[in-house]
Amino acid sequence: MPNRAVIGTQWGDEGKGKVVDILSESSDIVARCQGGANAGHTVVCDGNKFILHLIPSGILHPDCICLLGNGVVIDLDQLFREMEHLNSQGIETRGRMFVSGFAHLVLPYHKWTEEVNERRLGDHKIGTTLRGIGPAYTDKYARAGIRVYDLFQPDSLREKLEANFASRSDVISEFKNEYAADIPWLHAKLCEYGRRLEGMAVDGPRFLSDARAAGKTMLFEGAQGTHLDIDFGTFPFVTSSNTTIGGAMTGLGIPPFFVDEIFGVVKAYSTRVGSGPFPTELTDSLGETIRGRGQEFGATTGRPRRCGWLDLELVKRSVMINGIGYLALTKLDVLDGLSEIRVCVGYNFREQGQKQIDSPFFDLRAVEPAYRIFPGWSDSTTGARNLSDLPAKAREYVDFIQEYTGSRIALISTGPSREDTILIPPLASHTVRVSAR
Ligand code: GDP
Repeated sequence: MPNRAVIGTQWGDEGKGKVVDILSESSDIVARCQGGANAGHTVVCDGNKFILHLIPSGILHPDCICLLGNGVVIDLDQLFREMEHLNSQGIETRGRMFVSGFAHLVLPYHKWTEEVNERRLGDHKIGTTLRGIGPAYTDKYARAGIRVYDLFQPDSLREKLEANFASRSDVISEFKNEYAADIPWLHAKLCEYGRRLEGMAVDGPRFLSDARAAGKTMLFEGAQGTHLDIDFGTFPFVTSSNTTIGGAMTGLGIPPFFVDEIFGVVKAYSTRVGSGPFPTELTDSLGETIRGRGQEFGATTGRPRRCGWLDLELVKRSVMINGIGYLALTKLDVLDGLSEIRVCVGYNFREQGQKQIDSPFFDLRAVEPAYRIFPGWSDSTTGARNLSDLPAKAREYVDFIQEYTGSRIALISTGPSREDTILIPPLASHTVRVSAR
């Protein structure tokens, strides 16, 4: 079986949770590459709804092992909470959940720093999830971060905490009433977490290399989407890590040849959370209709997502940057019953002068989308099990996405549950089982 990477092609929330859930059916290991507890996956299986923020949805398959790679910033409160929640729902996590010892931790002062930063930006705020992700990555690159393996060395851990508290005394003093603004308290708590992590903390690259040598099948799961990438996204309205395929290599410590197939997840329309340019945004009642039908509210924050037409220029760029060979198209059913459907197939600069810059992606606020208009379809797509079950006009839409992006669609999702999925070669029901367990 091929080892696969799954990458978001838009601004995240493409429905990667369900796609990873389905693909992990045939994987022995699911390894997450980057991001933190700001990623929210909602997976419905056997009628039960699971919301996961840190743990890959592969955990829902009893034979699958999960790893949080070194590129992930880990909030241990959240990790243990999620593990306990899964255990209470009958999903055993013991012996199945591992974390890279090289991963950096998200600590209380990262959340406070983010809150203060966003407050200071006022109207220009990024609209982050306030989970401390950005400041944790900042500490990583400032070489001040604290890593999982540090929890096993109490003396140097204390020194590192002292240095971190001293360097952000302004932020800490704002939160001085919070009990965790206290070094001994945090040190004791982290040492306790260290004890709980015994057996779970591993040398990530070695772990994955040994797994490959043993013939295990691996799935590499990216969080967020390509256009939130710190380098290639709509900067500065981006996340703090590389959400693109390079982030999978550095976030796990694997060489490129470990990845046999790269899957891009594309939602049949666009959404984005928080601030930032969004050329195809629908600010009218149609946008609201899509939001309601698609349940476009953040799994992590509950915030309503901005909705708009599918932007194939963005998706095509994602295919180029990531080398995406296959697309998984999600939420096609949300478009059922619309009289017409628009797709962005190019940008026009609003002002001529902007053409000096030869890429519209430097500042998407400067462009207007050029649309191709498709007739809608009235029949429901939910329940389709084969391409031939789709209404002819939905098929036309799907075919155009393949043609425009130059990438083959291997999976189409037409509803939240596993069963509402069309598998197309190279995926097929004998390699991926989508029936309920
Ligand atoms: P992720 O972070 O990329 O996994 O995306 P989310 O989990 O935030 O968004 C996926 C949401 O859409 C969840 O509530 C899923 O249950 C739901 N979902 C996934 N695929 C489909 C689909 O094909 N149709 C519909 N209607 N909902 C879907």
